[in-house]
Amino acid sequence: MAAVQLSAQRARAVVSKETVTELQTAIHGQVLVPAGDGYDEARRIWNGMIDKRPALIARCTSTADVIAAVDFAREHGVPLSVRGGGHNVAGKALCDDGLVIDLSPMRAVHVDPDARVVRAQGGATLGDIDRETSAGGGFGLAVPLGVVSRTGVAGLCLHGGMGWLTRKHGLTLDNLIAVEIVTADGRLRRASETENADLFWAVRGGGGNFGVVTSFEFRAHSISPEVWFLCAMYPMSQAKRIVQFLERFMRQAPEELAVLVSLWSAPNDESIPSEHRGEPVIVLLGCYSGPFEKGERTIQPLRELGEPVADLSGPMPFAQVQCSLDADYPDGRLYYWKSVYLPELDEQIIDVLVDAARRRPSPLTSIDVWFLAGAAMRVRTDATAYVRRDVPYAIGIESNWTDPAESDANVAWAKKLFDALQPFSRGTYLNFPGFMEDSEKLLRGAYGANYKRLGAIKARYDPDNLFKGALNIPPNPPVAERNPPSADK
Ligand code: FAD
Repeated sequence: MAAVQLSAQRARAVVSKETVTELQTAIHGQVLVPAGDGYDEARRIWNGMIDKRPALIARCTSTADVIAAVDFAREHGVPLSVRGGGHNVAGKALCDDGLVIDLSPMRAVHVDPDARVVRAQGGATLGDIDRETSAGGGFGLAVPLGVVSRTGVAGLCLHGGMGWLTRKHGLTLDNLIAVEIVTADGRLRRASETENADLFWAVRGGGGNFGVVTSFEFRAHSISPEVWFLCAMYPMSQAKRIVQFLERFMRQAPEELAVLVSLWSAPNDESIPSEHRGEPVIVLLGCYSGPFEKGERTIQPLRELGEPVADLSGPMPFAQVQCSLDADYPDGRLYYWKSVYLPELDEQIIDVLVDAARRRPSPLTSIDVWFLAGAAMRVRTDATAYVRRDVPYAIGIESNWTDPAESDANVAWAKKLFDALQPFSRGTYLNFPGFMEDSEKLLRGAYGANYKRLGAIKARYDPDNLFKGALNIPPNPPVAERNPPSADK
């Protein structure tokens, strides 16, 4: 309580006319303040559950702006948060009573088609990258990203990045070549395998703890102009049998085939026969990104698992596949998510999932099963800060609803399923936690043996924990036990 009051008092002190002018003079982008033009719009993010009131929002337009904003926060002792695509479910992009370093104006993407290298600014969305790399842009390339195009690449990459190309090419962070990052001392550093290699190790999984990434450099892969998209829905009554089939099928499926299973309700949409709209279903979503002529044959068995409620599968440009789920995640809806990694998908676990799916309080809610076996599992557990290389499954528990009066029931349902899965769990995917009830336990579970090294690198680059607005890894040793900081590059 005392800390909250202190931060609010400090923020009020900082937001004097003079300090706002100081920040506005230092950056080219806009500085927004409560009750000012554009403030309410800028503090709105994807999840309608989040209602935070920053003292200042710095809409950065360049690296120089980011440096000035970091310097300002450090020099005035103002708490800060960093906004990329604003899609963190727990609302980590924003902070109450502090400074938001908002990178949403920094979304430029540059593709070098010969080198197959893609550079994206720190506020770019997945759609920004797909647009430039896709066949539509003439390059026929793709960076492994996530499955909803409006998600920010920054948050996604810094904690992992799972999507349609993960089984074949690894997580988003496995395809990172370098970052440019403004660290707590206000310096712009480049980090790669050969420059500030400890920092590069840490940002590949350590989230926003180490500074503001102004630029990501990715390896891109060739992709055919069209790929096969899988979207087959069956009645929920068939869910157990179908998940059991998939568990066996995916063991021998080519890595070009990605599958995401969703226990959900058929949408009220013209693409679904009217008699099935709103019915509980199991949806097999997927993408075959290998040679086009093999795609139909590869996904066919998954379209013949019984009488489908609907089958929307077919060939389409990869960039279109990347947008195919966007409409299911509109801005402003109420969301509370959790996740669990699983080493196996046995009958007992499938029963837990199907039973919970039948009890969903909202038809918008889904339980998703990600099949991860492939390239991401072949990376050594100490090669990057992201450690969960040993699990073939991740479960996304997505509570989605519209009526605020139903929030308690929807949050309780997600927590109950999370608890029911704990006996089988190998930790949490840090990009999908709803709200952090027990951050330390969550982080230790998520990083395992890499947690200690992350603390030491944090102590080197952010000894005073300026970037504590992220899912926070505290500096270790803490500042009181240490000699002056030694980051000197
Ligand atoms: P923000 O809310 O903008 O930022 C989240 C945190 O990231 C910030 O607090 C900060 O710590 C850090 N951060 C942001 N920008 C920077 C920066 N430039 N430099 C340093 N730190 C920064 N994940 C998957 O792996 N695969 C998916 O398919 C997938 N689909 C999703 C679909 C939806 C609709 C949503 C809401 C999320 C999805 N996610 C997925 C999870 C997603 O990866 C995380 O929510 C992620 O945090 C979003 O990143 P962002 O930049 O939009 O987040």
